[in-house]
Amino acid sequence: MLCTAGETSIVIDHNGRFRACEMRGIVGDLADFDFDVRRALESEAMGAEVRAIPAANCWCTHSCFIQDSSKFQPSVQLFHIAWAWFRQRIDRLPELPAAELERFKALELA
Ligand code: SF4
Repeated sequence: MLCTAGETSIVIDHNGRFRACEMRGIVGDLADFDFDVRRALESEAMGAEVRAIPAANCWCTHSCFIQDSSKFQPSVQLFHIAWAWFRQRIDRLPELPAAELERFKALELA
């Protein structure tokens, strides 16, 4: 899934400096953009940062940004998440104790 840090989200530090995400370096200072977050997001510096993120290949578990990124990728919402859930259930099927399957049976009857 593509990370949309710096495009759909931004991190602003206490002193006004901003980054694409907490794990990345400082991109600029909001004061230089008259505290206009949209201008900061659309700045050349942030554009360069956004272009650099895929090459960084950061394999993060930054849940806020993963959630945010997935909202802007319908294929992830509709297929990848559902498929990942289904696959892990299938992979675990032989290990599932019968008692755990009973929980789902109870849901069907509700
Ligand atoms: S993949 Fe994670 S660490 Fe990398 S820029 Fe996106 S949110 Fe930050």
